[in-house]
Amino acid sequence: MPVPLRQSARIGAYLVQQRLRGRDKFPLLVELEPLFQCNLECAGCGKIQHPEHVLRRRMPVEQAVGAIEESGAPMVSIAGGEPLIHPEIDEIVRRLIARKKFVYLCTNAILMEKKLDRFAPSPYFAWAVHLDGLRERHDESVCRDGVFDKAVAAIRSAQRRGFRVTTNTTFFTHDSPETVRRVLDYLNDELQVDQMMISPAYAYEKAPDQEHFLGVRQTRELFKAAFADGRRKRWRLNHSPLFLDFLEGKIDLQCTAWGIPSYSLFGWQRPCYLMSDGYAKTYQELIETTDWDAYGRGRDPRCDNCMAHCGYEPTAVLASTRSLKQSVRAALQR
Ligand code: SF4
Ligand code: SF4
Repeated sequence: MPVPLRQSARIGAYLVQQRLRGRDKFPLLVELEPLFQCNLECAGCGKIQHPEHVLRRRMPVEQAVGAIEESGAPMVSIAGGEPLIHPEIDEIVRRLIARKKFVYLCTNAILMEKKLDRFAPSPYFAWAVHLDGLRERHDESVCRDGVFDKAVAAIRSAQRRGFRVTTNTTFFTHDSPETVRRVLDYLNDELQVDQMMISPAYAYEKAPDQEHFLGVRQTRELFKAAFADGRRKRWRLNHSPLFLDFLEGKIDLQCTAWGIPSYSLFGWQRPCYLMSDGYAKTYQELIETTDWDAYGRGRDPRCDNCMAHCGYEPTAVLASTRSLKQSVRAALQR
């Protein structure tokens, strides 16, 4: 099942509303990080290098829901750390769904099967399981054997219970067009997840492994070759066609970091999920006090190798809404 019609219609209506209200900056989706602790230590992760007293902190439910309400975003992606470690994560999800927010719960799936009972299938809810490749590749990426099998078992259990299940795959320099195709074919055809997200890894300064982040040229070559025989149209990718054009180098885009902002234990992170130049207390303050023109490729050296969806998917979505041809492509996922 691709993005449900209800979700597409709501997002379309939300975009029209923002335009009618004359808002020039607004969130499409918030990356909510209610904790930083994780039960894995992936070599490419830049999220878990906090001191112990920070890793122990959990965001209260009211704070999480209040931040999303204030921003007005129609979609929320809950990440971390590992959100399933948060003792009230099910309550956060329930409260957001009750407010008709579309929630993606990102997880490495280690605790997923055990905690399935705490959630209920809903058109407003989807799992987003981290899977960086097939068995050997994924277990190497998360630095622990057996995680791929656990994730696949949890996905199958969730599917049997009627949940929407999506996946999130990050690619590094040790990937090739062949490994990209193999994992996406597997997720699309064999595991039959509802949708897949893909991303070149962002070069976090704090990540232990600094050698395997893709540069812009490498990212374009990788996806151009992986998409070459038309499979891109067959895969149920959870991205706009323009963002996929951007990944394979057919077009270039500039970053729109305010479209997918990040809210964590520290507040609204400036400018995005990947970089932190301080925090704001509210989304409004984030918008008003950030020099957005200072970020993006060619403007800040830390952005030079970034082609991540949190910066460029909003640009692609907004460009699609301004063109009839692109709107039709987006509707048909072509
Ligand atoms: S599962 Fe995610 S949050 Fe946890 S260490 Fe790996 S990349 Fe980081
Ligand atoms: S290009 Fe945009 S999304 Fe990427 S790191 Fe820079 S500000 Fe963040």
